[in-house]
Amino acid sequence: QLSKRLQCVVSYIPKGYSLADIGSDHAYLPCYAVLSGISSKTIAGEVVEGPYQSAKQQVMNAELMDRIDVRKGDGLEVISKGEVDCITIAGMGGTLISSILEKGKKKLEGVKRLILQPNVQAINVRKWLLDNNWRLIEEEIVEENEKIYEILVAEKGDPMQPYNQLELELLVGPFLLKRMGSSFIRKWKWEKEQWEKILTNLEKTEQTKEIMQKQRELQQKIQMIEGVL
Ligand code: SAM
Repeated sequence: QLSKRLQCVVSYIPKGYSLADIGSDHAYLPCYAVLSGISSKTIAGEVVEGPYQSAKQQVMNAELMDRIDVRKGDGLEVISKGEVDCITIAGMGGTLISSILEKGKKKLEGVKRLILQPNVQAINVRKWLLDNNWRLIEEEIVEENEKIYEILVAEKGDPMQPYNQLELELLVGPFLLKRMGSSFIRKWKWEKEQWEKILTNLEKTEQTKEIMQKQRELQQKIQMIEGVL
């Protein structure tokens, strides 16, 4: 049984699309995509030996070796240009996801859809999509084991299209903001509390230029979120 988080990622793979799952770990996602008839051919990419071996073992146990190719390598270097229609990258920080996309930019030619699930710092993923002409077409927020995850879906196109209030929406997500679901509200209340704690601690430390700058940034973010909640 696939986790609710990964099920949500899979639900955005169009039926019939070929897939590369980067940072696949146990290759649960590609196995599920193949077994449920969404993708007939997939690639599972892993850079670390342990997870790469687990992926290979899982694919062997599921007898899917002819349909899932497990490849070892850094980010998008495991795929060639034009090889897949869709790329999933899940369960990493947003900064790492955007650096994988940035490094592998050339491999994205011909890719029709990206489904990205940053655990933290989704803002960096939205910024990368915006700077690289990928249009955010949908977002989801799911809660599992007391954690809240964002899922971002993008296709090539006008990257400004979903945005009305750029700074705020890059932070919280334009689609998620419109919906204002209960998980969204919980997430941003929690984030705001964390910023307030950091701010209180910073007020107690020596007021250097950098500290004061950090305080101003946090105050701005807190105000921005207060305007929404
Ligand atoms: N995608 C799975 C999920 O969402 O459950 C596994 C997430 S796991 C926390 C992150 C995986 O990404 C690890 O197995 C790690 O080795 C792999 N990873 C990290 N950086 C990578 C990179 N540059 N290229 C490929 N895999 C990477």
